[in-house]
Amino acid sequence: MFDDSYKFTCVDRFMKYVKFDTQSDDESESFPSTAKQKELSKFLVKELKEIGLADAYMDEWGYVISSIPSNTNKRNVPAIGFISHVDTSPAVSGKNVVPSIHKNYQGGDITLPKDGQVIKADENPELAQMIGFDIITSDGSTLLGADNKAGVAEIVDAVKYIVNHPEVKHGDIKICFTPDEEVGRGAEKFDVDNFGAKYAYTVDGQSRGEVETESFSADAVTIKFYGKNIHPGYAKGIMINSLKIVSSFIDSLPNDKLSPETTEGREGYVHPVAINGNEELTIVKFIIRDFDTKKLKEYEKLLKELAQKAVDNSPGSKMDFIVTEQYRNMKEILNSHPKVEEYAIEAMKRWNLEPIMHPIRGGTDGSKLSFMGLPCPNIFAGEHSYHSKTEWVAVQDMELAVKVIVEICQIWEEKS
Ligand SMILES: [Zn+2]
Repeated sequence: MFDDSYKFTCVDRFMKYVKFDTQSDDESESFPSTAKQKELSKFLVKELKEIGLADAYMDEWGYVISSIPSNTNKRNVPAIGFISHVDTSPAVSGKNVVPSIHKNYQGGDITLPKDGQVIKADENPELAQMIGFDIITSDGSTLLGADNKAGVAEIVDAVKYIVNHPEVKHGDIKICFTPDEEVGRGAEKFDVDNFGAKYAYTVDGQSRGEVETESFSADAVTIKFYGKNIHPGYAKGIMINSLKIVSSFIDSLPNDKLSPETTEGREGYVHPVAINGNEELTIVKFIIRDFDTKKLKEYEKLLKELAQKAVDNSPGSKMDFIVTEQYRNMKEILNSHPKVEEYAIEAMKRWNLEPIMHPIRGGTDGSKLSFMGLPCPNIFAGEHSYHSKTEWVAVQDMELAVKVIVEICQIWEEKS
């Protein structure tokens, strides 16, 4: 039961939010990485207050925090959080975004007015499910910012709906809009205790029906290869060139498996991302990924053996092998809290959506938050082709996401 006379506000809000340039910066060491993100955050505090969320505020780091108190007699309903990020990708400009709505999409490519950009139907198979829908895009000169301002707008609209519909019974609802997700730092200053939610959902997924509960587990490996340098004019029988050792090591990696370019689905990989060095010392950096955390150990063992072999072939050289933990598959946490996933799936089904459950070949702020004590899967916001000038989102998907958020709150109350 959703009030069909409700006038959604998510699209109007979204059109306002994308006009704020909130690009984050992966080179920056400040927090948030760019101060301009806080301009949108301040605006969001104002919007939440206008809806009636008197406690809305932005903290010193730029996190917007607010809540709706429980309106049920049940005492055991856990506090549920909804989280999105205000920043946009450093990859493509988000300045002077000019959004427009292409009404009643009838299939085929969508040509944008600027920069020769075309949203191609064959590169965006999901467009086929959007016939009759209204598609929002940029003018082609910037990204759109649906990642993740669509999620922000949907949460704000859901909050408005809930506040104005007291018949929707719910426990405490917590809202947070974070900075710096795109540079992997959205969870960095997140105060889980202060937030006060027992469980949360990031609203930052792609397709209608998506419930993402699995991320990669990730380690970084740094291998230092030590050679021996001497003036090349007098090097015979003395020089050991670490660049050549590294070259043979890289060459010994498997060609047809275990790399990003040869894997998909649930397969993991080892992936060299940087080599820096000279004759004396060369440092190689790897990222290694798998959904099964135990496999990271196997991959580390393989790398170590291959590196050792390369060193053994150059007597007098040696190496250091350093593993750094990055993040873990959130499923390890979510498995102990099955209702979090179950109720999201239930919400999708109540809106006739086929739940889509593929694992994320990457990490999310939700995976970090899950390990910080806030179990946090990701649900769809409708954003597509993100981090590009051909980014798009459908109006109807945004409205559906609002309904799903409201539904999740109700289900937690109902089943508690
Ligand atoms: Zn995002």
